[in-house]
Amino acid sequence: MNRLVVVSNRVADVQRSTQAGGLAVGLADSLRQRGGVWMGWDGQTLKYEEEPEPRIRKIGAVTQATIPLTEQDYAEYYLGFSNSVLWPLFHYRLDLVEYKTAFLEGYRRVNAKFANALVSILQPEDVIWIHDYHLIPLAAELRQRGCKQRIGFFLHIPFPPPEILAAVPRHRWLVESLLEFDVIGFQTNTDLGNLQHYVEDHLGTEITEGRIKVGEREVIAGCFPIGIDVDAFVEMAERPNDEVQIETHRREILGRRQIIGVDRLDYTKGLPDRLRAFARLLELYPEMRKSVALMQIATPTREEVEAYVDIRKELEALSGAINGRFADFNWTPVRYIHGTVPRDALAALYRASQVGFVTPLRDGMNLVAKEYVAAQSPENPGVLVLSKFAGAAEDLHEALIVNPYDVDDMARNLCRALTMPLEERQERHKALMERIRKHDAKHWLDTFMAALEKGEIKNAA
Ligand code: ADP
Repeated sequence: MNRLVVVSNRVADVQRSTQAGGLAVGLADSLRQRGGVWMGWDGQTLKYEEEPEPRIRKIGAVTQATIPLTEQDYAEYYLGFSNSVLWPLFHYRLDLVEYKTAFLEGYRRVNAKFANALVSILQPEDVIWIHDYHLIPLAAELRQRGCKQRIGFFLHIPFPPPEILAAVPRHRWLVESLLEFDVIGFQTNTDLGNLQHYVEDHLGTEITEGRIKVGEREVIAGCFPIGIDVDAFVEMAERPNDEVQIETHRREILGRRQIIGVDRLDYTKGLPDRLRAFARLLELYPEMRKSVALMQIATPTREEVEAYVDIRKELEALSGAINGRFADFNWTPVRYIHGTVPRDALAALYRASQVGFVTPLRDGMNLVAKEYVAAQSPENPGVLVLSKFAGAAEDLHEALIVNPYDVDDMARNLCRALTMPLEERQERHKALMERIRKHDAKHWLDTFMAALEKGEIKNAA
């Protein structure tokens, strides 16, 4: 087996128990099994004239190689082009895009730095797998430096329709850069279809049976839905967690149910309307008052970007307003936790919650949906209420599928979930477990690597 070199903006510790973000969790699950090198930014910003050599550290089966960036890189490449242009754009939020030419320059400069660092550690037999929207031009940069290895790319977030993509300057350059990879992987068929539309409309070519002709080369474009390590999660959820158990016991005595939401605090996650839907549930079905609570855990993220400050303020105000309106001396309807929970506690919390409420406005996949399913007890499982705009909805048909823009629809489905008969819950859960097992972390890695190493496309959603 050839050495696998994975590259992403940040490098995660594959052995750490607190991790927020689908890329970190999904990749860590996969790399722990196969081993290899993981290269990325170390999270530091330093002043330097000459680019430092990558710092190498071995952790278990994975060798980490990291580089620092400068303040300017951070502002232009990370906060700028990656998170104020590509992130909102790829999530269909043209209204939040803030484009500056300097952002694009910073993006190109940092991709060149990544390429310089990589060539210093690459071996001729390596296969290279680059992740996510921060690093779209990296294959082109590596080719310019003479790299002959196979290079794959996986986009963890959605790929938008051409009408949206075309709003950003240099969109054609961006897609042409993407076509420098040997394999391009997407989360869903919708995303793959959007690339198909773009190459037809703007480049006068097409994807035929998962392949695009680019000059003399052939590029594979496919759908590789990311998954979780199901058994590891099941095991974690079954392990007793004292703190969660005490809290659950108290709730059971009071005959109360819990709806749970777990997200990075991002405007794509549909959090304000999720809270409104919960309030609507209490309005439409007064019998639910005092018998159900919403626990929303939201990890702070990208707090230097203004849109993220706004969403935080909005949520704090909303949860306060709902509690002000409905709370009783012995019942708090919304428990809003602004923080990260260790993964074992998270698994126990999912298991102790009767509804998993996952309502992004647009999401590449959404691993929380899969984790919630994995954590349920088969005898008495909870119900997943899932946005139709999460990539996961393309597969998880037995969830209650909702429109995250329609507060009444979400409220009705919450009620349906909370009153669903045991037998129906068991049937749905069984079917969902089969699906998340079929598309788990290992399947994702294996199918992508088969495409990258052998040119095979056997994935298909
Ligand atoms: P994204 O990649 O956009 O953050 P995903 O749902 O795909 O969304 O992945 C999120 C991952 O991060 C999941 O594994 C989830 O368990 C973890 N996570 C998200 N928020 C929290 C939190 N508040 N505390 C602990 N883990 C979190």
